[in-house]
Amino acid sequence: MEVLPAIEGGEPQRESLLRYGAPDIDDDDIIAVNEVLKSTWLTTGPKVFEFEKLFAANVGVANAIAVSSGTAAIHTALVSLELNKNDEVILPSMTFLATANCIVHCGATPVFADINPSNFLISMVDLRKKISKKTRAIIVVDFAGQPCSYDELQKLSEEFGITLVADACHSLGASYKGRCVGSLADLTAFSFHPVKHITTAEGGMLTTSNMHGAEFARRFRNHGMDLDVACRNEQQTWVYDMRAPGFNYRLSDIQCALGISQLRKLDNFVVKRREIAQHYFDAFENFDLLTPLEELPDRIHSYHLFVIQLNLQNLSVSRSHIFKALLQEGIGVNVHYKPVHQYTFYQDNYTAECDNTDEVYTRILSLPMHPSMLLNDVTDVVQAIKKVLSYYAI
Ligand SMILES: *Cc1c(COP(=O)(O)O)cnc(C)c1O
Repeated sequence: MEVLPAIEGGEPQRESLLRYGAPDIDDDDIIAVNEVLKSTWLTTGPKVFEFEKLFAANVGVANAIAVSSGTAAIHTALVSLELNKNDEVILPSMTFLATANCIVHCGATPVFADINPSNFLISMVDLRKKISKKTRAIIVVDFAGQPCSYDELQKLSEEFGITLVADACHSLGASYKGRCVGSLADLTAFSFHPVKHITTAEGGMLTTSNMHGAEFARRFRNHGMDLDVACRNEQQTWVYDMRAPGFNYRLSDIQCALGISQLRKLDNFVVKRREIAQHYFDAFENFDLLTPLEELPDRIHSYHLFVIQLNLQNLSVSRSHIFKALLQEGIGVNVHYKPVHQYTFYQDNYTAECDNTDEVYTRILSLPMHPSMLLNDVTDVVQAIKKVLSYYAI
């Protein structure tokens, strides 16, 4: 029996829109924020230090530096490498714009690498092809929350003397061969945007085991000043020096208090995300109109996103029609991502050859995935997808 989708005049699966991503804020979070508002330090105070220490211990790395966004974390990581005009940085084109923009802001050249079409992680074959004498760094993206193959990446980075940077904005709480994301690359950037694993509204973290990188980041986020206000108070001095200009990339104590409270719930959030993913896998196991991204062995995926590829050859309508049809069912789908090299700025200024990326872009959808989803919500997504895709099956 075929059921009529809402877009064709049928009943929608849900009345209210189920968002693809959403934060999970509870009373403990609100109390933690309120306490800071009543205290003396609203920024550059004890909560920043506490959040950094807790975060570093959580991922098993020596240094964690809180910054104002994931983008600020990536930018700070790249500036610490002292890139210049002739340098190239390789990154996958299947990522958020910010990864590439930070390279441009450093005056270096982004070189786009292709992905493996079954899991959207950087293709090691294409990565090798794109290494040149000018390559100074690689930024990899743990797409959707699945860690890249860090052993191979480390080997490559040592072989060519290239710095390995991880854009881990999708993969807080994930691990590779028992080691946490955040401890797997030379420098790792996290985001605390509301759709990410934990949130501080806006915010980010840079982790590194490298003392030089950590000290650079602490200055860079604070205008390049060599002593922050707490250090000056402690040493009873007003004097500070600046050897290189930085930015105001600080994260406030209000945000760090929220981050601490959220971080305590991270393990639980990841368990819930993985449970939702398992429900999706089970529901779609014998459903051949879509294919979820594959999970690789030796690692724990933390499911920031649940991405599917539509089997368009068996559907009579386009991805954009399916997208609209699902919105009308009350299912907030999204697309991650339009490849970076397809945006006007990058098309106008750079060349890119990423055939798999271009191809998969035409058929991807991200399904709702966040820890406050209930089993009912998951069932709604599954039923709406099956209803819509079956209706247009050929
Ligand atoms: C979210 C995200 C960023 C940027 O993080 P902000 O905190 O929004 O600046 C960068 N890269 C990827 C892959 C992301 O998902």
